[in-house]
Amino acid sequence: MLEARDRVGGRVWSAPVARSGTPAELGAEFIHGRAELTRRVLRDAGLRAVDTGGEAWTHSQGLLRPAERDFMLAASLFDDARALSVDQSVDQFLRRRERDPAVRQAATAARAFVEGFDAADPAIASVRAIADEWRSGVDFATARPVGGYRPVFEYLRDACVAAGVKLCLSTLVRRIAWRRGAVTAAVSSGGGSRTVQARAAILTLPVGVLRRHGDETAVVFDPGLPPVKREALRSIEMGHVVKVVLWFRRAFWERVQDGRFRDAGFFRFEGHPFPTYWTQMPLRSRLVVAWAGGPKADALSGLAETDRIGRALAGFGTLLNEPELAHEEFEGGRTHDWSRDPFTRGAYSYVAVGGTRARETLAASVDGTLFFAGEATATDGQSGTVNGALDTGERAAVEAAASLEAGASQGHDG
Ligand SMILES: Cc1cc2nc3c(=O)[nH]c(=O)nc-3n(C[C@H](O)[C@H](O)[C@H](O)COP(=O)(O)OP(=O)(O)OC[C@H]3O[C@@H](n4cnc5c(N)ncnc54)[C@H](O)[C@@H]3O)c2cc1C
Repeated sequence: MLEARDRVGGRVWSAPVARSGTPAELGAEFIHGRAELTRRVLRDAGLRAVDTGGEAWTHSQGLLRPAERDFMLAASLFDDARALSVDQSVDQFLRRRERDPAVRQAATAARAFVEGFDAADPAIASVRAIADEWRSGVDFATARPVGGYRPVFEYLRDACVAAGVKLCLSTLVRRIAWRRGAVTAAVSSGGGSRTVQARAAILTLPVGVLRRHGDETAVVFDPGLPPVKREALRSIEMGHVVKVVLWFRRAFWERVQDGRFRDAGFFRFEGHPFPTYWTQMPLRSRLVVAWAGGPKADALSGLAETDRIGRALAGFGTLLNEPELAHEEFEGGRTHDWSRDPFTRGAYSYVAVGGTRARETLAASVDGTLFFAGEATATDGQSGTVNGALDTGERAAVEAAASLEAGASQGHDG
């Protein structure tokens, strides 16, 4: 297993917070929907998940009010999109519908969810792909692994090593030379270079890395990936997210305004640089997360880490109408710039207009030798999630094993 970072987990990255049982999840935090494989791993590891809870609040006209449950309403707007003969962008699709005042509110919510949840730009995102992902009946419930994702990935790492996997951390893959039944990866590690030979490779490179060309962090394929793959990659965009974890001396928001927000789980703050904040409910914790996705994240790009944290903190103070108290209680914050991270180049993928088959094409193996996994190759609506990534890893491993077995029975060496 060749991994550029000095740790496992990739976009799962839990940073401990002093005196807190809850880590700062700089990447993934939630378990979305049924997520059967994730839950199986949790069970095997002796870990638990807790359903997210708490009340939802929305900030409008200067006041925080209980939020309406508008996600289902917003999702139902996209029902017709699945039948479109020609794909459109989310923006194009919504612009026609929101002329009707009765659906304007749902359309605004739909746009906010596409940006916030899918990290997508509504001007580029395929409405058919969004409609497929949000199709009625999909389970939108969320949970969190108790104690964060770190123990889950430590368990997986240890299980791999126990099964004989050689884990090479801080090992950057630069070039993948391949022909049927033979792969040579040129890697840099510890200041030197070497090659690693194999009969097949499972590639979990994020789309942001696969799409990179012509700089030192790009991975070169020799020969290049087939044209259909390159075409698919042009239709899968990397969405951007700015996530800031703030922690305070005390959960002060539970006490302001006579304890109105004591059980708050989510806050929507439309029109603000960070339109979403959440607490760790139902767990009582001093941590609050600020989240901006899609174009809102682009608007924050280029800001230094301290400025992002400062804006997230200022926003939370404004939201609660307690700017001074928020500053007094503030203890620390952390964020990671996934968009500039050379091993990710974004948060997670979404499909651009016209690319409804792109994920399947990206997922297909090449010549029984290159196998593709990772969230962008999930074709069952689970792209952009940890569970989607785990599922595709299992799928690619089964495909690779079958291909190697078939090769072995035809007389290739081991
Ligand atoms: C801020 C944020 C919040 C998120 N929140 C959630 C959430 O709440 N719930 C959820 O389910 N999902 C969430 N996600 C998405 C989730 O983290 C990803 O979908 C999932 O972790 C992707 O796994 P992966 O294996 O496809 O990719 P990665 O985890 O990115 O793994 C790819 C690996 O390839 C390595 N790599 C890259 N280039 C090279 C190279 N040249 N050589 C060697 N190694 C290389 C990387 O270092 C990385 O370890 C979030 C993501 C982000 C960024």
